[in-house]
Formats: sequence, structure tokens, C-alpha cells
Amino acid sequence: MPTRTMRHLTVVIYQQSMSDMSTVNSAPISLAERAYDEIRRMIIRLDMAPGDVVREADLQATLEMSRTPIREALQRLARDHFVTVIPRRGMFVSAIEFDELAMLYETRAIMEPYAARLATQRGTDRDWAEMADVLAETALPGKRPGELLELDRQCHEIIWRASANRFLTDTLDTLYAQSDRLWHMYLADVHDMAHAVDEHAAIHAALVDGDADRVATLIEGHVNSFDAQVRSAVAARLGTPISTPA
Ligand SMILES: [Zn+2]
Repeated sequence: MPTRTMRHLTVVIYQQSMSDMSTVNSAPISLAERAYDEIRRMIIRLDMAPGDVVREADLQATLEMSRTPIREALQRLARDHFVTVIPRRGMFVSAIEFDELAMLYETRAIMEPYAARLATQRGTDRDWAEMADVLAETALPGKRPGELLELDRQCHEIIWRASANRFLTDTLDTLYAQSDRLWHMYLADVHDMAHAVDEHAAIHAALVDGDADRVATLIEGHVNSFDAQVRSAVAARLGTPISTPA
């Protein structure tokens, strides 16, 4: 996860590879972390679907890694509720609990604005320049919903990193990954992804102005509008509305 020291590395990598946005946040990471990221990505993108059996040997072959990093990654994925261990039966990709969607969003609706407030104080022009590049990419025509989601995540990662609080970053990263998995299930039913992604432009402008109150209000609205879109997509598919906790 990005830290203050890694921010420097990020800048170096960024300068080397402006066009490849996927490397923007990369820095030397351990094998176990790489295994965690890659397995989590497979789970989020539903290459490993809810209920699928998780086989260590298959993952070792796919990721070309030994047993230890895979095992470490799976332990962490179990802690983060992406996989579930059932004693004497094995390990499975966790089911998606729709009730958890509301919990995810109510937590994000508090934490994302808070991170953004910190980011207005601690972020640099370089962070906002990087975000502007991501936004320029979202504006290109013909982006598929999956690509827009990826760019959405990059925008949020820049803000989390700029908040310079690794506890906040780690928590938001996990929450985002969980909701990302739901979005991938319902992407086909979400009609207005582009509009939700467009909201980043106003958020970016407020960050550049250093206006913490405006940023917080905009991000809260943005998280809630994503929530509403996914919720209605889920509800439409299930044929029943999803209740909101009081
Ligand atoms: Zn967003």
C-alpha cells in the first residue's frame, strides 16, 4: 500500500510510464502481496466466482508461485472475507451477501469524504495532475463500463494515497474491492456509469482549490449515487427492492 516513502517511488514510476496507468501505484511488493492482489482481482472480476472451490495447487500453477506466498495471500483474503474456509471441506470464494452492500456503502460514505478532506490538506499538485490524467482517459469515447470502473478506482486510489493515512487507505481499499465485485456482477444492468465517473471532474476541481467542505460533500454524493445505481440494478434483477438500514 502507498505510504509517504512510496509516494516518491510512485512519482518516479509515473514519470517513466505516463501512458500505462496500471503501473502508477506500483512499487516493489512481496510475492505474497502480489499473490493477494492477483487472486483478489480474479475474485473481483468473477474469474473465480462466488462458491467456487479455491485450490492452492491451481493458484500456484496460474501465478507461477510457490506454496508459501499463495498460502499467505489466502489467509489474508480469508480475513478480508473474499474467501471462506469451511473446516474439513476446504476453501471457497465467499458468497456475495446483498445485505452487506448497504453496510459497505454506509461505511464508504463516511470514510471517503474524510479521506478526501485529509487529501485537500496533504495532497500535492502532482497528485492532482495525476488525477487529471486519469480523468482525461475517462473522457475518451468508447470506454466500456469495466474500464470506467478501473478508472474510477484509480481516481479514488490517488485521493486515498494523498490522505497519507495508511489505515484509512487499507480499509478503503478493502471496502472498494468488495463493492467492485458486486459492480462486476451487475455492470450490464448499470445504465449510467459514465455519469457517475464524470462526477470526478467536480471532485478534482474542489481538490485543486483545496476546498475540503466542497470535496467532502461532492464525494459523499458520488458514493451515494454509485450506491443508488448498483442498488437499483440489483433490485431490478432480483425483482425486489433492497432495504436500507435505518
Ligand atoms: Zn468514484
